[in-house]
Amino acid sequence: MRDQNCLFCKIIAGEIPSSKVYEDEYVYAFRDINPQAPVHILVVPKEHIASVAQLEESNSLYAAKCLEAVAKIAKAEGLEKGYRVISNCGEDAGQTVFHLHFHILGGVKMAEKMV
Ligand code: 5GP
Ligand code: ZN
Repeated sequence: MRDQNCLFCKIIAGEIPSSKVYEDEYVYAFRDINPQAPVHILVVPKEHIASVAQLEESNSLYAAKCLEAVAKIAKAEGLEKGYRVISNCGEDAGQTVFHLHFHILGGVKMAEKMV
């Protein structure tokens, strides 16, 4: 199910252009428009799920498929030295697009570490 007002649902549908890096039945992945590292890719489920907070038994397969895709994409992008996977969940975490997404950040030795 898509949300008519959701930016990432529009990107998945091809209504807004994106730089696609991977796609399968469950997942769409594309380069972030405002990269925070040499490699900055967003991995999103093809189902509109607002954030991690909305995951439950009926839709958690999408989250698993997203993380499988993260592993595949990281290999394809040559990130064997490591990368960070981030999902901002909700306002306090700074989430700006309310369609679940996993940021893949890599291609550089990261200096700051929050956890
Ligand atoms: P959040 O802040 O919700 O964790 O992440 C949203 C991300 O989406 C941000 O990193 C932002 O740069 C990216 N973004 C916002 N609009 C677009 C867009 O139209 N195209 C692409 N490729 N990325 C976008
Ligand atoms: Zn959406």
